[in-house]
Amino acid sequence: MRSGNAIFASGGTTVFEVMSGLAREHGAINLGQGFPDEPGPDSVIAVAVMALTEQSNQYPPMMGIPELRQAVAAHNRRFYSLEVDWRQEVLVTSGATEALAASILGLVSPGDEVVLIEPLYDSYLPIVRLAGGIPRLVRLEPPDWRLPRAALAGAFGPRTKLLILNSPMNPCGKVFQREELGFLAGLLARHDTVALCDEVYEHLVFDGAGHLPLMCLPEMRERCVRIGSAGKTFSMTGWKVGYVTAPPALLSPIAKAHQFLVFTTPPNLQHAVAAGLALDDTYFAGLAQRMQAKRDRLTQGLARLGFDPRPSAGTYFLNAGFAKLGHDADDVSFCRRLTIEAGVAAIPVSAFYAESGPRDHVRFCICKQDSVLDAAVERLERYFTRGHRLTASAGGD
Ligand code: PMP
Repeated sequence: MRSGNAIFASGGTTVFEVMSGLAREHGAINLGQGFPDEPGPDSVIAVAVMALTEQSNQYPPMMGIPELRQAVAAHNRRFYSLEVDWRQEVLVTSGATEALAASILGLVSPGDEVVLIEPLYDSYLPIVRLAGGIPRLVRLEPPDWRLPRAALAGAFGPRTKLLILNSPMNPCGKVFQREELGFLAGLLARHDTVALCDEVYEHLVFDGAGHLPLMCLPEMRERCVRIGSAGKTFSMTGWKVGYVTAPPALLSPIAKAHQFLVFTTPPNLQHAVAAGLALDDTYFAGLAQRMQAKRDRLTQGLARLGFDPRPSAGTYFLNAGFAKLGHDADDVSFCRRLTIEAGVAAIPVSAFYAESGPRDHVRFCICKQDSVLDAAVERLERYFTRGHRLTASAGGD
């Protein structure tokens, strides 16, 4: 029997699904997949409920309801001083995932090269391939995830159509600095290329630092497609409302791809997200501060147990090296062991690389209630203390 499209038929189930399944099976605390376990803002939920009964539930406009497109433009002005024409430069999508797919399908033609930076969010590569694009992968590695400038410069060429940039970056928690963005901007200008900027964690930047969109750098306004996600910004990942900001020449083909992917997004959620984007500054600052405290809590707990937590400047995630814990196999087997034996699920970092990534780091999700983070550290502590005792008695007594 003929199978499906090779891009999807040959791919396995994502590691997130596998680890979540394993976590359920073994009653493990799931610090794998990144979703908060606290409700989103009441006032935003109230608008969604109200709009369901008081507003239209028929197809909203293909580009999104005017109220949300205006709110996205106002948000761009408030946080980044970006002047955006909501009529021509904003598109509402069904999550950032759909925004990414519509952008890649709308911008990449068969044979175009696309520069991607590993570790990668998992939807990028299959959609680039589906569009007929040729991936040019450049990798960042722990412990410091430094930008490999020579490799990046070498990945750009006459056929480069797109750079996909994720900052703040999942899974590694890297927030690209102005100087790094300047380097990338130079490459984009030199090669007359466009950047697809996945900025879903824009409001999850820690230590008082702000997020800087590549679009804000000189000459980048016309070369960037900027993607945001209500799921991340309002801690409701099930909502799947995304928004794209791009100059008209780039947004037009993206909107055409969007019209054949989903066409539109539930109207009540659009009304609610419009209200959410207008929340005052304390909401956005509070979101980052709460997440930073969780990062610190888990960092301290893991460090005490002998992990090497790597600095996380943003996102829902914290990466940690486990070389000192005496596990001699790779990160996939370490995560299985952690889930089944210690009762805590995490994601192996090598899963974010197309081929053979680093094998000694795991990604933990920090966006959980403090009691859940504490319980996870306790379980790990019990497990590793027992493990150390076993090792000691095996060697000594
Ligand atoms: N990009 C990145 C880097 C992500 O981590 C995620 C969610 N995990 C998405 C995009 C998708 O966002 P959404 O749920 O809005 O589709």
